[in-house]
Amino acid sequence: MPAETTPMKIQYNTIKAEHPDCLLFYRLGDFYEMFDEDAVVGARELELALTTRDRGKPEDEQTPMCGVPFHSAEQYISRLIAKGYKVAVCEQMEDPKLAKGIVKRGVIRIISPGTVIESSMLSEGESNYLGAVYLNGGRGGCAFADVSTGEVCAASFEKNAVTHLLNELSRFRPREAVLSAAAGKSAEIRDMLDKRLDCRLEEAEGLFDPGQAAERVSAQYAADASALGLDENALPALGALLGYLTEAQRGNMSQLRRPDVFSRGRYMELDASTRRHLELTENLRTGEKKGSLLWVLDKTRTPMGGRTLRSWVERPLLSPLAIRRRLAAVEELYRDNVGRGELMELLRSMGDIQRLTSRAVYGTANGRDMLALGNYLSLLPELLSRAGKYKSAMLTGLARADALEDIALLLRRAICDEPPFSVREGGILRTGYSEEVDRLRDLRQHGADRVAELEARERERTGIKKLRVSYNKVFGYYIDVPNSAGATALPEEYIRKQTLVNAERYFTPELKALEEDITSARDRIEQLEYDYFMDVLRQVAQRVDDIQNTAAAVGELDALCSLAEAAVRNGYVCPQVEVSRRIQITQGRHPVVEQMQPDVLFVPNDTHLNDAQDRVAIVTGPNMAGKSTYMRQTAIIVLMAQMGSFVPAKDAVIGVVDRVFTRIGASDDLAGGQSTFMVEMSEVASILKNATSDSLLILDEIGRGTSTYDGMAIARAVLEYCADPKRLGAKTMFATHYHELSVLEGTLPGVRNYNITAKRQNGKLIFLRKIMPGATDESYGIEVAKLAGVPDAVIRAASGHLRELTEKGAAPAAKEKVRSDQVSLADMGADALAERLRGVDPDSLTPREALELLYELKKLSQ
Ligand code: ADP
Ligand code: MG
Repeated sequence: MPAETTPMKIQYNTIKAEHPDCLLFYRLGDFYEMFDEDAVVGARELELALTTRDRGKPEDEQTPMCGVPFHSAEQYISRLIAKGYKVAVCEQMEDPKLAKGIVKRGVIRIISPGTVIESSMLSEGESNYLGAVYLNGGRGGCAFADVSTGEVCAASFEKNAVTHLLNELSRFRPREAVLSAAAGKSAEIRDMLDKRLDCRLEEAEGLFDPGQAAERVSAQYAADASALGLDENALPALGALLGYLTEAQRGNMSQLRRPDVFSRGRYMELDASTRRHLELTENLRTGEKKGSLLWVLDKTRTPMGGRTLRSWVERPLLSPLAIRRRLAAVEELYRDNVGRGELMELLRSMGDIQRLTSRAVYGTANGRDMLALGNYLSLLPELLSRAGKYKSAMLTGLARADALEDIALLLRRAICDEPPFSVREGGILRTGYSEEVDRLRDLRQHGADRVAELEARERERTGIKKLRVSYNKVFGYYIDVPNSAGATALPEEYIRKQTLVNAERYFTPELKALEEDITSARDRIEQLEYDYFMDVLRQVAQRVDDIQNTAAAVGELDALCSLAEAAVRNGYVCPQVEVSRRIQITQGRHPVVEQMQPDVLFVPNDTHLNDAQDRVAIVTGPNMAGKSTYMRQTAIIVLMAQMGSFVPAKDAVIGVVDRVFTRIGASDDLAGGQSTFMVEMSEVASILKNATSDSLLILDEIGRGTSTYDGMAIARAVLEYCADPKRLGAKTMFATHYHELSVLEGTLPGVRNYNITAKRQNGKLIFLRKIMPGATDESYGIEVAKLAGVPDAVIRAASGHLRELTEKGAAPAAKEKVRSDQVSLADMGADALAERLRGVDPDSLTPREALELLYELKKLSQ
């Protein structure tokens, strides 16, 4: 390490020492510079040239350095954040021209994935959460904040905290999280954050200290923890969150709203795999929004609306009253096509009030941001008065939001129509806002006029018509005399400033004096405009609570319109939501499948589940018949109803469920290193542990991942457990290819068989997609194998084997039912055969392999 001598480098080192975990962006004139190790990292990650400040010295004494221009810093910072770094932004805290000695500098913000407010680093319809996770034995709590919108939530869990925390994490998907030491030790929590959510982690036990947490909370909200509803589990989490933000935002946190504190009871908790399987906000295959429920429902017009709707989809409600409140509002908008169209048209012109306001609070907003905010706010009176025409409690409540006319007026008066990007160059304020600025602008204009006069006078005096007075940033004002003018003798006040190839440049004492007047007027204007602009930001910041409340109301209005619009376009009905244990759906449809295949007619199906005769539905049918679709559609319709949405059906009565659990298909969790069967069983275990008699369970082909014997035994035992009111007694839909399970109808109360039919027609298999009472006795496995392209020779062989088995009276097609507690081995053979065939990709088989397969199939069938 070279000895540090310059005062600047000493200052740098002091600041850097306070932020060892950050890359320090050190403001130096028009650049942010990085030094030493930071410079090496920065140059590598941003592909910048690595240079040095002290070129004269021997190489090992040189300080590595690299820099980015301050006006394009945002894009570089966002690249570093995306790569998982934290950036500390260190600014000049005084005007370098006025500074005595070294310019004072300080870190004004620390930017990390969870603390960004720059719109270029955020995606519009999504929240950007910072999380804090607290664990204390079986108890725990969590808190989340989106600093770009001011939203804050906290939750507390008395027991089984890890499970609940995992569910909350998968719902909020924080980009960054602070963990208490115990939370950091939980492999499950770490895995979820690190592997599944790609979240930046920081362990900081110190931040979770309950005493300090209480102090921070009461300083932020001027209310004590219990008044805010924070208990001993939620308080340390929220305290840690505030502590982390205080450090990152340098105490500037007035945009954070009061925390929405929820324990179990307000929102439906959904586990990560149920969310994924039901494709609520992203599709299972690519993780994109397209093909998800949110994609179907999202007709929002504003970023606030987009975020609100997403949060509704992620958090279905539990209280029938709260659900009906939303449904009543959606219904009014549903019925009023004209009014809704006009509302949506107005919303279309509305932008991101929440994030613009947050930038005002931080002081990072520019003139264009405030112009836009003013324009958006000026739409509010009309928007709110339109909302006020409706009768439902929710819409009338939203219409009462503050229309913020004073702020709109302030911004309209203060900001001109075309403010520049920079806030330091003047040109932001509208004429008439400040007398002083106007007067200085006159002076400056007057100066410009005087320059023009001077030019005319000099042309006259020298007789050189091509003489011009010009300006550039480096030389200031000068008199330009082209060589072509052939000037011989110029007045003696002319002092040569610069010689170019085809011109000479001069100045005169008069021009110099004029320039000083103009420059000082400009400097004064720039400073004054900056001060006024900062004052505007402060006035906006003072109303931050009201603005954010109104912005939230706009978001809800937009989300309600969106649900109504989707209902009209897609032909949904208003569900009847009640406190009961029945689910009665007439002609239900899968909202996503029907949209993804517009040219295929979706076949609607009924669902009847209740607490008595129809508790458990066993669904059988050939592969590809539509079993999974049917069961998912039931779950999604229930969730949609509890979100306050209309549903794709002819009629629906939904007794509110406390949770929906799914276990669907072969899990693709190979990355996690667990076998499919292990994943399947741990999901089943978690479902059986956490479900109650008020839950809805969707169990799709349980037991598939193991040998047929084991699989069937497990499937049956799970079914018995679910059906038995003394044990679980939950509404359950159960798809299975173990036809043997159909004997449970009639043996176990509340169990019903259903099947989805297919038929053979001219040797072809036709799927009817219609759910019927009763069990199937044909699996059409071979037809499906044929559909999938298994070579004819193999199909023929398989058919032969199946015939043999059937003749022996062992195949499922045989009318004699297998006794419920016994499974015949031959029966297993047919199943194993179909199973083996299912796994075959005929296109990848060599002729030799195909032959071997045939031998293998033959062996399997014996
Ligand atoms: P299974 O689980 O019985 O193997 P799926 O539920 O996966 O069958 O359905 C297979 C395909 O059939 C789906 O991808 C969908 O395209 C189509 N499908 C399912 N149900 C219907 C329906 N009710 N109407 C129209 N197409 C359907
Ligand atoms: Mg299926």
